[in-house]
Formats: sequence, structure tokens, C-alpha cells
Amino acid sequence: MGTVLGAANKEANGSALEKKPTVVFVLGGPGSGKGTQCANIVEHFGYTHLSAGDLLRAEIKSGSENGTMIQNMIKEGKIVPSEVTIKLLQKAIQESGNDKFLIDGFPRNEENRAAFENVTKIEPKFVLFFDCPEEEMERRLLSRNQGREDDNIETIRKRFKVFLESSLPVVEHYETKEKVRKIDAAKTVEEVFEAVKAIFALENDKVTPPVSSSSIL
Ligand code: UDP
Ligand code: MG
Repeated sequence: MGTVLGAANKEANGSALEKKPTVVFVLGGPGSGKGTQCANIVEHFGYTHLSAGDLLRAEIKSGSENGTMIQNMIKEGKIVPSEVTIKLLQKAIQESGNDKFLIDGFPRNEENRAAFENVTKIEPKFVLFFDCPEEEMERRLLSRNQGREDDNIETIRKRFKVFLESSLPVVEHYETKEKVRKIDAAKTVEEVFEAVKAIFALENDKVTPPVSSSSIL
């Protein structure tokens, strides 16, 4: 029985029958536009969007035994243990039926990164990094009204601190591997998406025509 992530183990055993999924990590501070741009990328390039934060919030809602712990960590802007997040990501990958994923908002620290690599044996194709000044991110978070318990000024400050101290080192790690594709995320949604498209085109990702399209692409 094959699952996409089982492929990694098989390969280690010497029988690489299944292909590992393609993964692009989408990183950037809170409010840098990861979720918004991922929705655009899904539409144009046929990826499945996996937001680690959304998966964790769904886990809280589902009433799982980890729910309260996750809820408390999110409220404090802390990073949920890797094991929990990675399990949710693996499950979503297996259930998707796709082989191309945007993993948004993960890995958030070096431990997340190393654990994901060890468990899945997946290396990202590249890392999309949304670079945005803190004042702009703060403005967006305070005006987005998504009813999130962590979009208040107190938690926002904590999230910024965690981003600088724990998440930026992950970007730096991938910089040493020349995998980071940095985008100026302080511009409009349309302008940022133009830059995003240029990157996916350079990475040889084919544009997927809209389902309703009558074009003969
Ligand atoms: N979170 C986490 N691990 C992850 C992703 C998210 O612990 O891999 C938690 C963390 O507390 C974070 C919160 O979920 O502050 C919200 O994350 P999300 O990515 O949804 O927020 P964003 O950065 O997009 O505003
Ligand atoms: Mg998000």
C-alpha cells in the first residue's frame, strides 16, 4: 500500500517506486500575505494549499485531545510541538490526492524544519519568502477582522518576536542552500502576485488553465 509519504521510506529501502511530493514552503511574518497569495498560486499553478495554522485551528475545532494545548499556544503566539503539526501535515498530504503542495507558515523554527525533514525525507523545491516591514504587518493584522484570537496587539507583538527569533533562522538556513525566493510583500496583492508568478515561471511551473476555460492549452 503506497502513500506519498511512505515513498520516502521505500526509497531508503532501495525501492523507489513512488515519487515524493513536490513541496514549496511559504514563509514570512504574521500578516505578510502568505494565505492570500497561496490562494492565488493554487488557482494558477495547481498546488494544494496547506496552511499549518489553519490545520491547527481545525484541530482545535474538532475537539481533539490536543485542542486545548494548541489553543493556548496559539493565544500566546508560541510554536506548537513539531510532532503535532507534522502529523496534521502528513495526513493532509495523504488525503489530498495531489502531488504538489504549498506549505504555508511552516516550518516555524529549526526544530520544526529538522523534524519534518527526518520524518518525511522531503526537501522543499524552494522557499517563497514574503518580506514585509513590521508596521505594515501590524496594520494588516489589526484590520483583517477574521475573528482570530491571536490578532490582538498583545499576541501580535509576541508573534513578531517569535518570528524574528525562531522563524527567520529557518529562512537563513535555506538561504545557505540557495533555495530562498524573496518577495517584497509590502506592495498591493496584485503587485505581489506578479512577482510570485515570475518566480513560479522561473521554477518551470506550468500555468494550469481554469476549469471553465475553453482555450486549447
Ligand atoms: N502555529 C504553530 N506552528 C505552525 C503554524 C502555526 O505553532 O507550524 C501557531 C503559532 O502559534 C502561530 C499561530 O499558529 O502564531 C498562527 O499561525 P498562522 O500561520 O495561521 O498565522 P500567520 O502567521 O499566517 O498570521
Ligand atoms: Mg496565515
